[in-house]
Amino acid sequence: MPAPSLPELREQVWRANQALVRSGLVTLSFGNASGVDREAGVLLIKPSGVPYDQLRPEQLVAVSLTDGRVLEGDLRPSSDTPTHLLLYQRYPEIGGVVHTHSTAATAWAQAGRSIPPLGTTHADHFHGAVPVTRQLLESEVSGEYERETGAVIIETLERLGLSATEMPGALVASHGPFTWGRDAQAAADNAVALELVAAMATQTFALNPEAEPIAGYLAERHFRRKHGPDAYYGQSPKPRSSDVGRGLK
Ligand SMILES: [Zn+2]
Repeated sequence: MPAPSLPELREQVWRANQALVRSGLVTLSFGNASGVDREAGVLLIKPSGVPYDQLRPEQLVAVSLTDGRVLEGDLRPSSDTPTHLLLYQRYPEIGGVVHTHSTAATAWAQAGRSIPPLGTTHADHFHGAVPVTRQLLESEVSGEYERETGAVIIETLERLGLSATEMPGALVASHGPFTWGRDAQAAADNAVALELVAAMATQTFALNPEAEPIAGYLAERHFRRKHGPDAYYGQSPKPRSSDVGRGLK
């Protein structure tokens, strides 16, 4: 059976990939955005190694959400596809995943440090410190490396008791950020937010190495006005069939 071509999802995932370039988060062919149609059981992702300025919507590769098999497309899917796949399988509420090597967030990943919530910009998007994973073991890197990268992200969120809704991103140690969201665009927005709060945190600690995290009551107010049942920030969105992860940005 041929895979459905999913024109709307294709357009959306293509736009999310372009948004990463426009926002300055990717250089060369680093990074990738994906999105899923859970009813169709399909993940659409950037092809491996194709420069963003040459990427066309029809080149996105359709992969089975069940087993990662290529369903449609002549190009190889991004080498990070198994990482995306594992995140989608573990978190049914997410519809988009983004990976970049954006400078400030990657610097925190390379430093092996979680990004503490220092102000309301952070609290608007992330519920608490954006966590950094442990280092992958040699056996994990020499094995199914990209799948292990997804596994260590999940392990990190679970160890900290964080849901994918509360924490739409993580830093993979010595590597870089992964973010996710309701759909590919939301995942890309979270990648932009993560880069911004990483850069702000770096500058904050440069000015004051003793800077303290934001007060809990202020952080809660900011997170809850944008997320969850009592959210009131912005305009009421039109109901969408893809809104499986209510409360996800
Ligand atoms: Zn990478």
